[in-house]
Amino acid sequence: MSASTTSLLLGNQTHLPSLKSQSLLRLTKPLSIRCAASSTPTERVINFAAGPAALPENVLLKAQSDLYNWRGSGMSVMEMSHRGKEFLSIIQKAESDLRRLLHIPPDYSVLFLQGGATTQFAALPLNLCNPEDPVDYLVTGSWGDKAFKEAQKYCNPKVVWSGKAEKYTKVPSFDGFEQNPHAKYLHLCANETIHGVEFKDYPVPKNPNGVLIADMSSNFCSKPVDVSKFGVIYAGAQKNVGPSGVTIVIIRKDLIGNAQDVTPVMLDYKIHDENSSLYNTPPCFGIYMCGLVFDDLLAQGGLKEVERKNQRKAKILYDAIDESRGFFRCPVEKSVRSLMNVPFTLEKAELEGEFIKEAAKEKMVQLKGHRSVGGMRASIYNAMPLAGVEKLVAFMKEFQARHA
Ligand code: PMP
Repeated sequence: MSASTTSLLLGNQTHLPSLKSQSLLRLTKPLSIRCAASSTPTERVINFAAGPAALPENVLLKAQSDLYNWRGSGMSVMEMSHRGKEFLSIIQKAESDLRRLLHIPPDYSVLFLQGGATTQFAALPLNLCNPEDPVDYLVTGSWGDKAFKEAQKYCNPKVVWSGKAEKYTKVPSFDGFEQNPHAKYLHLCANETIHGVEFKDYPVPKNPNGVLIADMSSNFCSKPVDVSKFGVIYAGAQKNVGPSGVTIVIIRKDLIGNAQDVTPVMLDYKIHDENSSLYNTPPCFGIYMCGLVFDDLLAQGGLKEVERKNQRKAKILYDAIDESRGFFRCPVEKSVRSLMNVPFTLEKAELEGEFIKEAAKEKMVQLKGHRSVGGMRASIYNAMPLAGVEKLVAFMKEFQARHA
């Protein structure tokens, strides 16, 4: 391959008129993008996207150097058999590095699946419940709500606490909701990506035979977690640990093997567990990328160190908001503010468009809040460097000085 440039033919996606009425895939005018093989990190934007999100630059550069010929195998990871020794070494290292990072106990299985966290909203009740079984859901934002609604098709879930009336700005106190003593599990979303609400501690299921289940999609591997408190932890990879297409499920082994008869084979944890996530063709390249990220997190000193960095980044951003005398506001109760997703609004809402546009000119992109809540949102996952947050804070102060 030429070291200079590679041409890719892509559709021009930048001016789709209406996403509702237009097929996203009807990409007409071809656009030639020249990718310099020598591209350097300095050419990149500061990406505050909520997911798919920024990946560590050293991981991307490593993947780039491995892309054409992985470790002298003569193949890219994308071209390897998922049953060959090369890929087996990749997936096994990814799993063992994740086990080291999270200190996953031996009585837990780690599954690398597909279908996103959304698929787990159905897989969980299908695997853990009979149709009549009661289960409890804490709903602290849109994702917890979606998980609850999907469970309604497969078991008998109840919302035991919802933050909807307070616009999802809180989590409940642990004595502030009534659990069903027979609930098979208590489900929560550990970090609500849209609303920026994060559990800092976790409730214990009232049923001694029940388990706690957490959707950790948007704070997975952002801090240490005591896995033994949970029956199941699940996460889409595309925020903190890799590209979209990989979903990680960490499940206590005794919970595997009781799926409802109607459970599709691809949703049955037993099938995936017995086949070490290789029942069918897994998302090989995505798993390889997750493995590179796990390696990088270990090299940084593990999740305690990662958490320390995340706390520092979040603090300077929340401080900037809180010290702006109301110019910027974050609606989330202080004690449960997310370290990962920071939603904020402008007192003068009419300036929000300008804020986002001007930030983009400074290469700070994807700061628009989710369409359901508006305002702004800065997602500052593990891969966001401190300098990226510092640049945003400097821009916010300068913007305020011009507009206050
Ligand atoms: N849960 C949370 C907390 C999320 O942030 C998301 C995606 N943004 C999902 C679930 C759904 O994940 P996926 O798109 O991978 O199905």
